[in-house]
Amino acid sequence: MDSNIFQGDALNVPQAEKVYGWGMTQYSNSPVLKPSTEEGIKKIFSIANRDGLKLVLRGGGNSYGDAAINSEGLVVDLSNYNKILDWNEETGTIRLESGVTIQQLWEFAIEKGYWPPVVSGTMFPTIGGALSMNIHGKNNFAAGTLGEYVTQFTFLTAKGEKVKCNKKENTELFYLAIGGIGVMGCFLEIELKLKKIYSGKIRVYPKATKNLQEMLDYFEENYQNSDYLVGWIDAFASGKALGRGLIHKAVNLKQGEDPNHSQTILLKNQILPKRFFGVIPKSWMWLFLYPFTNNLGMKFVNFVKYVVGIPFEKPYLQGHAEYSFLLDYVPNWKFIYKPGSMIQYQVFLPLENAHNALSEILTTCQKHKLVSYLAVFKRNKGDNFFLSYIMEGYSLALDFPVTKKNKDKLWALTYQLDEIVLKNKGKFYFAKDSTLRPEIAKQAYGEKVVNKFLTFKAKYDPNGILQSDLFKRVFLS
Ligand SMILES: Cc1cc2nc3c(=O)[nH]c(=O)nc-3n(C[C@H](O)[C@H](O)[C@H](O)COP(=O)(O)OP(=O)(O)OC[C@H]3O[C@@H](n4cnc5c(N)ncnc54)[C@H](O)[C@@H]3O)c2cc1C
Repeated sequence: MDSNIFQGDALNVPQAEKVYGWGMTQYSNSPVLKPSTEEGIKKIFSIANRDGLKLVLRGGGNSYGDAAINSEGLVVDLSNYNKILDWNEETGTIRLESGVTIQQLWEFAIEKGYWPPVVSGTMFPTIGGALSMNIHGKNNFAAGTLGEYVTQFTFLTAKGEKVKCNKKENTELFYLAIGGIGVMGCFLEIELKLKKIYSGKIRVYPKATKNLQEMLDYFEENYQNSDYLVGWIDAFASGKALGRGLIHKAVNLKQGEDPNHSQTILLKNQILPKRFFGVIPKSWMWLFLYPFTNNLGMKFVNFVKYVVGIPFEKPYLQGHAEYSFLLDYVPNWKFIYKPGSMIQYQVFLPLENAHNALSEILTTCQKHKLVSYLAVFKRNKGDNFFLSYIMEGYSLALDFPVTKKNKDKLWALTYQLDEIVLKNKGKFYFAKDSTLRPEIAKQAYGEKVVNKFLTFKAKYDPNGILQSDLFKRVFLS
């Protein structure tokens, strides 16, 4: 196993290739190693410590910016380290290798009556990558982050020690590695608890809201009786309509509420269809959106989406996969940005400042004529992980196109938005980040936290073998 990676006790380094962040804006030219065993990962770490190599760990490569690329060394792609090891149907506890994806996980679990407790808007992240960023989902306000469902894991620290971590043993590393942006070491085997479900469907309640205040009010009135809540915002709307959008609240069906549960729970009834209207291959869909990928076209698309959504406020049933992974419906949708690319700018704001801060963010983008083409809104709650980005309040994720022409202006805009976030005591999300500067990270996370993170880094990685372009940009420059 992994014999192609090694030549005796040295690495058999392949030719460098272009490795991209998901948004296609950042890339590095790096040789990529793909270990499929724990022994392979250990040996790579040991050689890197001996020979002074620099590595970045990479899962599914779904972080938008530069979290899983490394312009000064090798990429260790963990997607082949992907076996499901153990399953306990009674407790819903699963043990898996860290390269298992969310897709593998839900496809394994659904017919057994379980669903991952937290998923991202795409099913392609690995569990190791998702834990390194400690992802949140549309149920964050109730369920918290993915890390909260981890019962234990084994971790290979960068200096090569294998450590078992849970909430009682090696707690420092437990709370540090989860959300630790992949620079302390590598998740090996992960054990986590899944959520029981009784039906393959959830009940969705769509709601159009005329402005940001209405959206906030709906969230506040509904979050305690919802399992999931997500808002889409038309970022082009201004004046009295600023922040208008559509909300999709969803509630799990309880035992007895789905007479067809033995059918709806089947995997074959969850898989996203390969064609739209049974005719157009989904993989072509981005081509239809391509002509609209400019300010005018996206203003129109956002307007139509809002207007068409107004009369459809009747609840309906939808499959878990369809509701959770809407973005995967249109494979390669990011290609609409070609020949340019995209970034996502996501901020988290405390409850009391959310309305003012979000209004200022939306109007600032409009003033600069750099309006987000896709804006997604969520309700959040805090957690206890060391480098936590999340808090009781709201988050807004803004997708922006990047072109040669707008890049400098766009970066300048994000710097201005950073100031709005800081003055409102908000934070940023490393999984999405492309633009954050060290001084802003220090202010948002606190100088003490950042310094302590670097002290931990020296302790678990004295030779500095684990890096990423994100880590160098935000923590070392
Ligand atoms: C369309 C889309 C929608 C998304 N929606 C959401 C969302 O709703 N909520 C959310 O929170 N995020 C969301 N994300 C972000 C995504 O979930 C995170 O970036 C996640 O970390 C990606 O996992 P990955 O396996 O692709 O990891 P990568 O992007 O490859 O790597 C992420 C980090 O994990 C580290 N890493 C990878 N594997 C390991 C390992 N085994 N051990 C230690 N470190 C490791 C890497 O070094 C890197 O720092 C979305 C992304 C996309 C593209």
